[in-house]
Amino acid sequence: MKLSGLIIKGIGGFYYVEADDGKIYECRARGKFRREKITPYAGDRVFIDTDAIIDSEIENSAAIDEICERRNHLVRPPIANLDNLFVISSLKDPSPDLLLIDKNIAAATINDIEPILVITKTDLIDNEDYLKTIKEIYDKANIKCITVSNVTNKGIDEVRNLLRGKISAFTGNSGVGKSSLLNAIFPDFKLKTGETSKKLGRGRHTTREVELHKIDGGYVADTPGFSAFDIVRNGMNDKEQLIYGFSDFMPYFGKCQFTSCTHTGEKGCAVKEAMENGEISEQRYRSYAEMYNEIKGIKSWQMN
Ligand code: GDP
Ligand code: ZN
Repeated sequence: MKLSGLIIKGIGGFYYVEADDGKIYECRARGKFRREKITPYAGDRVFIDTDAIIDSEIENSAAIDEICERRNHLVRPPIANLDNLFVISSLKDPSPDLLLIDKNIAAATINDIEPILVITKTDLIDNEDYLKTIKEIYDKANIKCITVSNVTNKGIDEVRNLLRGKISAFTGNSGVGKSSLLNAIFPDFKLKTGETSKKLGRGRHTTREVELHKIDGGYVADTPGFSAFDIVRNGMNDKEQLIYGFSDFMPYFGKCQFTSCTHTGEKGCAVKEAMENGEISEQRYRSYAEMYNEIKGIKSWQMN
């Protein structure tokens, strides 16, 4: 029987596919994918053949026949068709790292993933102005910014609503409250992940594996070992392309005096002018310049 489905986990050459019949199939990919150097990823929509016997010992086994065209894919963590990237940062302990936030937002934007900034620990607020400043930076850039507290549950519903029907991942430094946030959104998340893992058997998590957890009509990627997106490996190794990670710069793109403008301080730069006029926030402009210089310094042998 041919079925369509979604890869929810890949490990050691086996892929767990949640098929349209509601069952989970343990799959092998057909040899043609290896020949074509295509690696199936969690998040891939696929067609499977349940009549292909890949292992007579396994109850629901199938072969992956076809991988549907991807909307996007990331290499680290390896995942396809991500809709949302929740960029998590705490207001305090640790305090926000705006450059890291902007890197994660740019990595998402370049890969056609919606970045959503979540500021946690707002119950620890002792400086209203600082939170306001951060909100202003991202409001101006048209990036969703949600302020939450995992202690009082403020803002939790707002995050939950954005997860529905989507494939989402969470990123942010250790200690910013990612696990607390997931537990606040899904109080029985731990239980559920325990169940899925049992069902999916095979192997334990390493940093190379991603597992999608079906929750509340959407999927949340469990990406162990990743606190920040790898900027070199997620389509940001080309300084000329970096500007596409800054959607707030787009209206000024192509309007600079010099066509070779790098927007890092040149005369007649339309992006710089927009920053000076207050149309682009200074922080975003600074992050861009810092990232540009960082990418410029990356040698080709440091890539892939
Ligand atoms: P992770 O490393 O990103 O998963 O962070 P954790 O969820 O483990 O949280 C790190 C610490 O911050 C823990 O001690 C949490 O109890 C605490 N924490 C997380 N979210 C909040 C919050 O919204 N408010 C406060 N006051 N503490 C929080
Ligand atoms: Zn420019």
